[in-house]
Amino acid sequence: MSMAEHDTAAIDWDLLYETARDARLKAYAPYSTFLVGAALLTEDGEIVPGCNVENRSYGLCICAERTAVATAVAAGKKTFRAIAVVTDTSPPASPCGMCRETLTEFCDGDTPVLMADLDGERVIKPLRELHPDPFQWPENIPKGS
Ligand SMILES: [Zn+2]
Repeated sequence: MSMAEHDTAAIDWDLLYETARDARLKAYAPYSTFLVGAALLTEDGEIVPGCNVENRSYGLCICAERTAVATAVAAGKKTFRAIAVVTDTSPPASPCGMCRETLTEFCDGDTPVLMADLDGERVIKPLRELHPDPFQWPENIPKGS
């Protein structure tokens, strides 16, 4: 996806924010009580929500961003224009390292990441700024081998 396709002015940030904000209310977070919502904008303009889903075995918890990515991939969507993440924290929380790495699997470095709180504070950064040096599959090992 080229820079032009990441034209942040062409993205309905309010709708993306509202979808993530509403998804946040569906979070299953009885242990941390830290509710997170995400909304992934697909290449074809669909918005896929995600929320964090915790587990009594803490290591099984999954973040809102990765829930959205998994849901989108299951629906056949693998190219994304933007993602929004909404928390009730100021300044707005940013995606964790695992989610940043996951996003780099499907998004290029120009993909804008909106981080927002419930009071309207919004920060937008390109994924590259959040995760400048993602793991690269070794060139000498073909995928699928
Ligand atoms: Zn995460």
